[in-house]
Amino acid sequence: MKIETLKDLFHHELKDLWSAEDQLTKALPKMIDAATDKELQSALSDHLSVTRKQKKRIESISDDLGWGPRGHRCKGMAGLIEEGSDILDDELPADVRDAAIIGAAQRVEHYEMAAYGTARTHAEKLGLYDAADELQKTLDEEGEADRALTRIAERSINFEAMTG
Ligand code: FE
Ligand code: ZN
Ligand code: FE
Repeated sequence: MKIETLKDLFHHELKDLWSAEDQLTKALPKMIDAATDKELQSALSDHLSVTRKQKKRIESISDDLGWGPRGHRCKGMAGLIEEGSDILDDELPADVRDAAIIGAAQRVEHYEMAAYGTARTHAEKLGLYDAADELQKTLDEEGEADRALTRIAERSINFEAMTG
């Protein structure tokens, strides 16, 4: 699509976010399978269902504006997922692999937080306040997912491999 106005840019951002969420709904099940720590598995599972809701949220924001969310591939999310899955190909001890999964997941959450914060601000500037409110909901959920991962990284994972 040709981008000329802030509104065009905002439309592009919604498509980019839709693609990001769509890719993440496919990547998270693999991360859940690869994780060992139960708390980590359940945090990722929770975020998988939240991610599905977020994808639908972008569809309804787009619908309200008479736009389609499809047709663009978010290369940023593709790269983050690719890096995260590359490290899982290595034969890491379970606790180190869990730490790598947390790191990959937190990169994803921060990328999403940056993108949602920008899109929300652009919606506000365009006077699209309902869209801005909806995007803020997702931004809050991404922040919550990030904090849950930090708690797990700090508390639950016991690095026997590092001390032993
Ligand atoms: Fe998300
Ligand atoms: Zn992107
Ligand atoms: Fe997320």
